[in-house]
Amino acid sequence: MKKLLLLALLAALSLAANAAKTPPKLLLVVVVDQFRYDYLTRFGPEYKGGLARLLNEGADFTNANYEHFPTVTAIGHSTVLTGATPSVSGIVGNEWYDRETKKNVTSVSDDNTKLLGAPGDRRGSSPHELLVSTVADEIKLANGGRTRTIGISAKDRAAILPVGRMADGAFWFDSGSGNFVSSTFYYKTFPDWAAHFNDSRAADRWLGKQWTAANDPTKVLRKLDAAPGKGYYDNLERTPFHDELIEAFAEAAIDAEQLGRHDGTDVMSVSFSATDRIGHQVGPNAEEMHSLALWTDQTIGRLIKYAEEKAGAGNLVVAFTADHGVAPLPEYLHERNMPGGRIPETTVLGALQSALVQRYGEGKWVVGYSGPAPYLNLDLIHEKKLSYEEVQDFAADVLRSVAHIFRVYTRQQLMFGSLLNDMVDRRVRAGFNAERSSDIFVVSDPYWLFEMSGTSHGTPWTYDTHVPLIIMGPGLKAGHYNREVAINDLAPTLATYLNVQTPSGSSGHVLLEALER
Ligand SMILES: [Zn+2]
Repeated sequence: MKKLLLLALLAALSLAANAAKTPPKLLLVVVVDQFRYDYLTRFGPEYKGGLARLLNEGADFTNANYEHFPTVTAIGHSTVLTGATPSVSGIVGNEWYDRETKKNVTSVSDDNTKLLGAPGDRRGSSPHELLVSTVADEIKLANGGRTRTIGISAKDRAAILPVGRMADGAFWFDSGSGNFVSSTFYYKTFPDWAAHFNDSRAADRWLGKQWTAANDPTKVLRKLDAAPGKGYYDNLERTPFHDELIEAFAEAAIDAEQLGRHDGTDVMSVSFSATDRIGHQVGPNAEEMHSLALWTDQTIGRLIKYAEEKAGAGNLVVAFTADHGVAPLPEYLHERNMPGGRIPETTVLGALQSALVQRYGEGKWVVGYSGPAPYLNLDLIHEKKLSYEEVQDFAADVLRSVAHIFRVYTRQQLMFGSLLNDMVDRRVRAGFNAERSSDIFVVSDPYWLFEMSGTSHGTPWTYDTHVPLIIMGPGLKAGHYNREVAINDLAPTLATYLNVQTPSGSSGHVLLEALER
């Protein structure tokens, strides 16, 4: 009898162990564009929806930073499920200068694709610039493609880059038509369910509506046009209503693609952009950001609830993060006796061009940019029989002399060493890709911006790199973990949790605290 009991107990135990090892049916990745880490702490006590749940039931890493420079949308989104830095992933900016074609390209623009879902014959987008695998790709590589992967956002890069090259579909918003669109990279023809969603004119639900402050309904934050059109859709993207639209489209995608119902783990990435669109205008200390964060909490709550219902209880794992943070408005800081200000980008680059002309003669010395980082005209340098190293060093010296520039790096320096091993040098080096990056990298002093209005991000400083990182799901250990970790750690952690190969370019480390098994 005792022996039988023991056997039954052993069988039950091994069943439990196996159950815990069966990965959930759906991985939901939620990215909120420009959601600073402190939006969790400053507004946390007021959250009641999805963010409250993530904070209470998830494994919350309170000191998670990006480990690259520049901290921009495309790079952040490409890091989430690859664990790779730009040096390896190839995604070195939102846009860069392509030396081969001598043209500026965006991180996802693809001349070989067409846009689907909106009128006109327009170029589409794809993940063809992404050189590494994602967790979603590894799941598909392991199971022979039995599962589904879908990416959704307002922005093409934020829809496409998280899910990667084997994704079944990516959808983003076209403010010209008010439609969700995709590209021929994913589909021969636009899927019926998505066309049906567009035909319902879901984006027109908020015509003439006002967005008011969370704690004061008489305070109007934004008012929308009464008639549909590009003006209305552009403004809609600067309200929390647009995040609601994204959420509604995500629900439609879950149903149409039967996410959470396949033999293995399906992946859905949803990136909300209103925080970024509004944040650039007003900065992190405006009432808009407080009101918007409370709205985001509700929107994410609805999405998690819907995904959970469809995948089934105990079959959903959620990862929550942001693609970068943002600096306070320089004027806001200035009034409070804090450092910060604006360095006109045109002044910096104008100074560079005129110094190069003065020293080496007439010519177009800079052929392209990635943010404020210049690409030198190699043909001209060659034509004038100059030394590339010398021109590069001279250009760097010119930029170093500009006030409130913290450091300037040359390509030679980044390729062949002579770097410190401090935080800034490490992040700049991780952002440098020998094929695609500019010849010179420029880092401003903390709180100094190259923009002349509003605020921005892009620096290696903590207000741009420190973002939320929470994972919540069956078998993950809830808690607040204060150790310093990188957003690059998310991908290898999810890969380990889901029993698949670590993505090809990952430089992250597994977040052991979160894994119970
Ligand atoms: Zn962004």
